[in-house]
Amino acid sequence: MATYEYRCDLDGLIEEIRPLGTAPGTITCATCGGEARRVFSAPTLVRTNREIVAALDHAEKSRDEPEVVTSIPRAGARKPTPMAKMTPALQRLPRP
Ligand SMILES: [Zn+2]
Repeated sequence: MATYEYRCDLDGLIEEIRPLGTAPGTITCATCGGEARRVFSAPTLVRTNREIVAALDHAEKSRDEPEVVTSIPRAGARKPTPMAKMTPALQRLPRP
């Protein structure tokens, strides 16, 4: 679906949502019944963070082509879990 813009001489800008490629050159204004002509304007483009776009693309791709592992990853491949610094409060805690 796409939003198409039309302009009525009496009522101004009208937005109409239709499937892509089905917008006629004119429509009937719902307010006055007159003819509203199609207006072409710049599409709304939003700048999105590259990392967010990559994550969204990965999520979209994983719906159809999920990444499947065939073996257990090597133990050395894992990053060690970061440990909290030993503050005096942590040093007083019981240890296993
Ligand atoms: Zn009108």
